[in-house]
Amino acid sequence: MKEMLARLAAVLNEIPGLQFTENVSLSSVTRFAIGGPARILADASTETALIAVLDAVGDDPHALIGGGTNLVADDRGFPGVVLRYTANTIEIEGPVVRVPAGTVLQSLVDATIAAGLEGLHTMTGIPGWVGGAIYGNAGAYGHSIHEFVESVRFFDGVAVREIGNAACEFHYRESVFKRHKDWIVLEATLRLPPGDPATLRIAAEGILKVRNEKYPPTMRCAGSIFKNLILAELPESVRAQVPDRVIREGKVPSAYFMELVGAKGMVLGGVQVADYHANLIYNAGGGTSHQVRELIETLKRRVKDQCGLLLEEEVQYLGCS
Ligand SMILES: Cc1cc2nc3c(=O)[nH]c(=O)nc-3n(C[C@H](O)[C@H](O)[C@H](O)COP(=O)(O)OP(=O)(O)OC[C@H]3O[C@@H](n4cnc5c(N)ncnc54)[C@H](O)[C@@H]3O)c2cc1C
Repeated sequence: MKEMLARLAAVLNEIPGLQFTENVSLSSVTRFAIGGPARILADASTETALIAVLDAVGDDPHALIGGGTNLVADDRGFPGVVLRYTANTIEIEGPVVRVPAGTVLQSLVDATIAAGLEGLHTMTGIPGWVGGAIYGNAGAYGHSIHEFVESVRFFDGVAVREIGNAACEFHYRESVFKRHKDWIVLEATLRLPPGDPATLRIAAEGILKVRNEKYPPTMRCAGSIFKNLILAELPESVRAQVPDRVIREGKVPSAYFMELVGAKGMVLGGVQVADYHANLIYNAGGGTSHQVRELIETLKRRVKDQCGLLLEEEVQYLGCS
């Protein structure tokens, strides 16, 4: 393994547009601040550099991340190359926005507001990068990014391809990219309706204020741990347990079930469930991926046993078996 990495490092050194560092703690590149060392962390600033790294890595272990805000990384680290695609130049022409996957989502939100384009302002305060947002169809306050996506360019391991919105198979926190883990989102083309920048900014500031109360900017977490549940997809036996007051936009917050099973305030080592929000697990200090997983499994088991329901993680795992 050591020799393989030394050979790889020599090849990576020759790739223009690539920066890499050896033995980088994944806790330093994930918002949860959890995770052992990646043998190599490589940042590719161009498509050519990204594809050259993938060619060089071949079948050796590698994984792609973005801003690391929806990830639990393994305490043992990652035994290969963790790759980030960092291209981030936003182009806006009228209602059409072309945005590379390495763009910070908030920069995209701010740019569209400034350009008088409406829709993404409700995503103010969602951390992470555009590639991660497309992958997980990120959204908040009644809107998700898929509503504005015209097409997505991606690398499928062999070639760069472009697909339209329908082929992205977006659903609530789902996309075709989640089902093809080896596909890498390179760029999205969005189309947005016009809006008044001042009005959008006021709405965005209001949203950010509420969000910052729920997720203080320094909180080490990954946002919601579990996906919410689509009411229409729940078995009748479960639907019957849910009072109307908790249903929002056709969904039942998974926090409702978590609260029923006593999740709020639970502590396991350095990780805790927030005492004000049952679907929020955070690293209070010294937390490990092992503890996060154990807490998640305990909560899933309780919800299964007490409510007859299988919760599904929204958070993604890096290297955790
Ligand atoms: C405080 C807080 C609040 C949050 N609130 C929300 C919210 O309101 N709504 C919401 O939807 N999410 C929310 N999240 C979750 C997270 O911010 C989003 O899922 C975000 O889109 C993840 O982007 P990322 O770049 O950080 O992805 P990462 O965490 O780096 O990666 C997540 C997954 O995306 C994949 N991925 C990343 N980039 C690419 C790419 N270019 N191509 C293919 N796959 C890729 C990775 O392989 C990984 O599996 C929140 C998180 C936090 C910490």
